[in-house]
Amino acid sequence: MIDTALPLVDLHRHLEGSIRLETVLELSEKHELPIPAGGLEGLQEAVWMSEPTSDILKIMPKFDLLRQVYVDYEVCKQVARECIQDAIDEGLDYVELRFSPFFMAEMHQLDPMGVTEAVCDAWQQIDKEFPLRSRLVGILSRTYGPEICLQELIPVMAFAGKGLVGLDLAGDEARWPAGLFKEHFERARNAGLRLTAHAGEFAGADSVRETIEILKPDRIGHAVHAADDPAVMALIADRGITIESCPTSNYFTCSVPSYEAHPLPVFLKNGLKVTLNADDPTLFSGLSVWQEYELAAEMMGVSQEESKKMQLDGLEAAFISAEQKADIQKRKQIDF
Ligand SMILES: [Zn+2]
Repeated sequence: MIDTALPLVDLHRHLEGSIRLETVLELSEKHELPIPAGGLEGLQEAVWMSEPTSDILKIMPKFDLLRQVYVDYEVCKQVARECIQDAIDEGLDYVELRFSPFFMAEMHQLDPMGVTEAVCDAWQQIDKEFPLRSRLVGILSRTYGPEICLQELIPVMAFAGKGLVGLDLAGDEARWPAGLFKEHFERARNAGLRLTAHAGEFAGADSVRETIEILKPDRIGHAVHAADDPAVMALIADRGITIESCPTSNYFTCSVPSYEAHPLPVFLKNGLKVTLNADDPTLFSGLSVWQEYELAAEMMGVSQEESKKMQLDGLEAAFISAEQKADIQKRKQIDF
């Protein structure tokens, strides 16, 4: 259970998977985009994951329905604003929202630089009203290959420090291993960006090891299969890496066979730093971080003490300065 006296953060939330379905409906009608019959309910049926599947051919059409609405930069701005607002309304003290400029730009041939600018503009507006509640992370979609990802890195680096604080690597880790993106991560590190990468979600413990050794990230997304190799867990501990765990996402994409089989308790028993996150709330019927903490307690036997530690480790692993973390702690105490 969440300790409401402690800060609550979400460090692993995709903008592309956080869009309001009401907005998808409204924009699809306005721009005459193809959507399933049945209004909002029809859309929910098409987008929400009702049962676990590892079949990317079943998952991709859901994302295509969601990303078809990015017809111009105004829409990118609107969606980014709403996603951050929703995270704040959920009661999060701080959220890091990640997005892939190419993935958002692709369907309507927008300029990834323009997409990034729009998202960062939206962030700036929100940050004026709700200071230090959110930051942005740029994603390299590895499935486009290392060449396109070098291009995708350009807008991410251009907005480094203007709301954008980190770089992530997402997509098919089995076909596009971490080693292909060494240069990208080195450049981002030199530009002052903090680093995270998806690993051990759809590939084994070796993928986590390779990611750590080559990309040297501060955090790892999912890391599910790190639990298969004690040496990889030791490496995570040794490097002080925090795992961004997303149990519901792992369950629905078949990275784990059940909630009970999720390695979260193993990570915690091994003393690893873990944080709980929503990943793609829109796909999981509007999942909140609150629900993830409840599930961790009820289905995975996570204790109150472990839960508290995850909340604190979450803030500690945020891509902001120590001073800013202290400010969030202070704000929390005043609000509480
Ligand atoms: Zn993710």
